[in-house]
Formats: sequence, C-alpha cells, structure tokens
Amino acid sequence: VTIAANEIQRMLRNWLSVRRTGPALDRSEKLLAEEVSEFEVQEGEKLNSVNGLIEFKEVKFAYPTKEEFVLNGLSFHVKPGEAVAVVGPSGAGKSTIVDLLLGFYPLNNGTIEVDGLPIEKANAKWIRDAISFVSQDVQLRNGSLADNIRIGNEMVTDDEMIQALKDSGLSDYLNSLPEGLESSIGERGALLSGGQKQRLSLARALVKNSTILILDEASSALDPITELQINEAIQKRKSKQSVIVISHRLSTVLTADRIVVLENGKVVEEGTHHSLLEKDGVYSRLFKREAETGENVISVS
Ligand code: ADP
Ligand code: MG
Repeated sequence: VTIAANEIQRMLRNWLSVRRTGPALDRSEKLLAEEVSEFEVQEGEKLNSVNGLIEFKEVKFAYPTKEEFVLNGLSFHVKPGEAVAVVGPSGAGKSTIVDLLLGFYPLNNGTIEVDGLPIEKANAKWIRDAISFVSQDVQLRNGSLADNIRIGNEMVTDDEMIQALKDSGLSDYLNSLPEGLESSIGERGALLSGGQKQRLSLARALVKNSTILILDEASSALDPITELQINEAIQKRKSKQSVIVISHRLSTVLTADRIVVLENGKVVEEGTHHSLLEKDGVYSRLFKREAETGENVISVS
C-alpha cells in the first residue's frame, strides 16, 4: 500500500467521522469509521492502465447501519477525460458516491465499473491509486510544504510541486516564503489559513496525477476551495483526467462538461448547463433562485 493510498483512506475515515454536523459523534459513527476496511477487496483484478470511464449502473445502496436506501437505482457515467458535476440538495447521496467508488462498502444492487471492471472485483489499492480525492476535511502533517505535497506522489519534482501550487492558487503564498517549498507549515498546518489548507490538499491531489479526480465540497461552506480554483483545476485537467466535482453551489459547476442533478439517491436531470436551463426543470429553478438570492439555496440541511 502506497502512502497516497493510505492517505486517501485516512482522509476518508476522518471525513466519515466528522463530516456530519450536529451533536458530538455517537458510537455508531465511530464504529462505522473503524469498520470501513471490512468490506475492502484486498485481492482482485487490476487493469494495466486506467482510461477513466466510470459507470454507475442502477446502484442501490443502504449504509450497513441504516435500513433506508441512500441510493435508489442511481445511474450515470463519466467518460474518459470528461468533467461531470454532481449537484443536489444536502443528503441527496452525493458524498456516498465517493464512498462507493472507493470500494468502502458493498452495493445492495447494481454495479459500479471503472473501465468496465466492476468495483467489487477490483483490487482496492488499484482503485485508490487510480483516484485522487479532495474532501472538505484536510489532513496535513507536521513538516514542510513539500512533505505535504509529496504524500500525493513520492516521485514528484520541485517544478511539478510549484506548478501544482500555482494551479491551486498558492503561488503568492509560496513566493512569500523565504524557504520556499521547504518552509514549515506548523503543527498539522497550523501556520496556514483554512483556505490555504484546502488549496494545499488540492495541490496534493493534482501531483498524484491519477486518471480520476474527485472534488467533494461536502456541505459546509467553511473555507471551501474557491469556485475559481475549482473551475480552473477543472479546465486544466479537462480531457486529461476524468473529473467528478461534487458541489452544492451551482455556480461552481459551470465549467463542467455535463451536470448530473441528484435527488433522493436518483438522477433527476442530466445535461449541460445550457440544456438544463432550457429544459426549465429542477436545475433551472434552483439556478435561477441561487442567482436571484445570491444564496446557496440547495445546501440548506
Ligand atoms: P450529500 O453528500 O448529498 O449531502 P450524503 O451522501 O453525505 O449526502 O448522505 C446521504 C444520506 O446518507 C444522508 O441521509 C446521510 O445522513 C446518510 N449517510 C451519509 N454517510 C453515512 C454513514 N457513514 N453512515 C450512515 N449514514 C450515512
Ligand atoms: Mg456531501
């Protein structure tokens, strides 16, 4: 298991246990976070290369701790090199898509395939190496900027790190540091602002350079990566990486090739921004309301 794969797993565990707001974590949530690896496929098939075709086919899924289905026959796909935005209200099942794509839970029905290989038959490490994932909760280590970027890719060069920091909107910050890449970021990034931490985790995902990039804004707006950064990252990676950007803010996703609108664990609409506006359905209503109020009307939980 590479450091990168470990890191993703750790981020995900942490994210599973902290992402829902409200009262302190209850035991079932903690147990769940521990339980995650139980379902992982340790053996399993690997493909020689990854093109980045992702297909959800009629996926039904309930978390092991809950009876009700979170995904109710979810079908959508991402073609190699395509950037697809997944939008929808809080609780629609957007982040669950990531849990399942990373193979953390078995499906109740349907399949998820990467390049035609069903996840449940695929080697867990292979899948995780194929995916770079940025979540709301950033895990940083004591050490330098470079140490923290290298978690994504041990072989990364200084030039590539500098480029990734630039793509993540941290050029000015980097240039302000006397020791550059070797500057300390403090106890788990204590010297960084929330936004800088997010950007650093984006830089880390970018140097990993896997075929699939997933950005999940989760649902809280606490220091999110700026819309600009996400859009620029999408633009740059377009056609090189398959990108899934999960967002509760519709304005974040204008640069996506296609938008998938999720409600109650199902796709209710799908298309380009313009085709969806013309259709005058759910997306169009939400978008107009968001534009009018300047508020993020669909993230209210
Ligand atoms: P979204 O990302 O669209 O806001 P989620 O995929 O996080 O929605 O959640 C969908 C539903 O699944 C919600 O009802 C949420 O409470 C539930 N859920 C999410 N994660 C877990 C989990 N680890 N265990 C049990 N239920 C969960
Ligand atoms: Mg979410």
